[in-house]
Amino acid sequence: MKIPLSNPDITRREIKAVTDVLRTPHLSLGPKLEEFENKFADYIGRKYAIAVNSGTSALHLCIRSFGIGVGNEVITSPFSFIASANCMLFEGAKPVFVDIREDTLNIDEDKIEEKITAKTKAILPVHVFGYPCEMNKIKRVAKKHKLVVIEDSCEAIGAEIGQKMVGTFGDASVFAFYPNKQMTTGEGGMLLSDDIDIYHLAKSLRNQGRDEGAGWHAHSRLGYNYRLSDINCALGIVQLSRIEEMLKKREQASVLYDKYLSDCPDIILPSLKDKKVKRSWFVYVIRLNEEFSEEQRNKIITLLRGKGIGCSAYFPPIHLQSFYVDEFSYKAGVFPITEAVAARTIALPFFNLLTVRQIEHIAESLKNSIRKVK
Ligand SMILES: *Cc1c(COP(=O)(O)O)cnc(C)c1O
Repeated sequence: MKIPLSNPDITRREIKAVTDVLRTPHLSLGPKLEEFENKFADYIGRKYAIAVNSGTSALHLCIRSFGIGVGNEVITSPFSFIASANCMLFEGAKPVFVDIREDTLNIDEDKIEEKITAKTKAILPVHVFGYPCEMNKIKRVAKKHKLVVIEDSCEAIGAEIGQKMVGTFGDASVFAFYPNKQMTTGEGGMLLSDDIDIYHLAKSLRNQGRDEGAGWHAHSRLGYNYRLSDINCALGIVQLSRIEEMLKKREQASVLYDKYLSDCPDIILPSLKDKKVKRSWFVYVIRLNEEFSEEQRNKIITLLRGKGIGCSAYFPPIHLQSFYVDEFSYKAGVFPITEAVAARTIALPFFNLLTVRQIEHIAESLKNSIRKVK
């Protein structure tokens, strides 16, 4: 039984929607783009949405649109997908990392304030693995110090804090639709905001710096080609219409994993019980307990992969990636919680169509592999 780490959930409806677009002349900047943006803005509950070709592009446009650049600092998490920190480097700004909480794996909101300097322009929290950050506290700190909040919600579509959707807390927020995400457009991302100036600016930057209504060769500013084609948007519209069903399937898979793994004292399950927040299940990442070394964890991953089970070490700390070490001279030990967690995580196969039999098989194989390396 070969089981991938992730697998998109594409039905005949998605295939039809995509081929329908191909029968029209509107493959880009057409009606599907506007429809996808409007429906996504409605779903999250924000005024404006701008679809772009990746989550990374959306993050970059946020940094650029808020005028964050050389000499500025942005506070963020070192335990994330690398794009959430790279977006600052694109503009010459410096990511300033704050260690995470061991329970939620999100940025420790109580350690943010001590990192604020005269150069700090923004806070960029990441809802890691779909579990919401303490946005109310983060917003309070941001307000006190007049900082922008950019919410990286790429892993958290549909998550809620006190029945308020994740992605509505920041001055802007970002979602992503790579095929391993809860919903996909193949490649794609979305920038959301309630600020009309940010909306117009980011929309222009997406489309080579053109202003709306201006000619194709009239460029008001340095822009990019970050457009998302109508083919991708058509796929996104159908996926979004199925979002509740898809999130439910993932939640059910997480409950089954919990059931088959809860008797294993060597692992820490990802499920957290906090009635105030609703998680969106992006990945199912277990942690080995403190007795295990990084080498043992890597051996377990190798054993599982040898059995055809896709799994991965999520996330290697951003500050220890080679080019961050080269540029900022980070040394191991500076963010101890991030590093301790990162050395012991294993992301298990996780997607909508995972079957009970597959989950049972993965759980048994994991327990066997742990026994072998102990
Ligand atoms: C997926 C993801 C992104 C964006 O990724 P793209 O591949 O560029 O769409 C950004 N931040 C986080 C935390 C992510 O998980």
